[in-house]
Amino acid sequence: MVDEQIKERGVVDPRVITAMAAVPRHRFVPEPLTNQAYADHPLPIAASQTISQPYMVALMAEAAEISPSDHVLEVGAGSGYGAAVLSELAAEVVTVERHRNLADAATELLAELGHDNVTVVKADGSLGCPSRAPYAAVVVTAASETIPAPLIEQLADGGRLIIPLGSLGEVQHLTRLRRNGDQTSTETLGWVRFVPLIEDR
Ligand code: SAH
Repeated sequence: MVDEQIKERGVVDPRVITAMAAVPRHRFVPEPLTNQAYADHPLPIAASQTISQPYMVALMAEAAEISPSDHVLEVGAGSGYGAAVLSELAAEVVTVERHRNLADAATELLAELGHDNVTVVKADGSLGCPSRAPYAAVVVTAASETIPAPLIEQLADGGRLIIPLGSLGEVQHLTRLRRNGDQTSTETLGWVRFVPLIEDR
């Protein structure tokens, strides 16, 4: 998986490559699909959601430019797989999930696998997690038409926010926003397809 899907497509950050090799993806995939865990595509998980394609997890982690001392917010814990990868790169990860059963399953599995620096919060992640802010990186694993303002507000100075922007059912553009003081700049990293970010307000 790491050689053919991650390195060959241009992910070069050695820490990301090590993290992708370290996390046992088959543990995050529903049991009937375990034999497809390392295949080159997303897979269905509970609550009609998906565990992202391995390459997408690596691409987003690399784009977030995470240092070992960083505090990171993930929006959309899903299976917990992305959070596990981020936890190998960062000092602390807070991951927010709106589905109670997914949040509970991810909490249990991440603890079992020893990812002690991850906290799973059951909430509407479009509000971020203000009590643990600011974050050096925010990784949103669901697509939104616009960037929710709280996520930008909770980004540290110099921080990076990675989010798929666009409509459901269409391809979205994976976007990186950088915050420098009160200024932000954005760039498009490529075309992607994610489940929607659902705001519970
Ligand atoms: N990172 C996940 C990918 C999960 S798919 C993994 O590695 O498995 C995206 C997830 O975002 C889904 O679980 C969905 O329930 C969740 N989601 C959608 N809108 C959300 C919101 N507003 N707040 C928190 N989670 C949300």
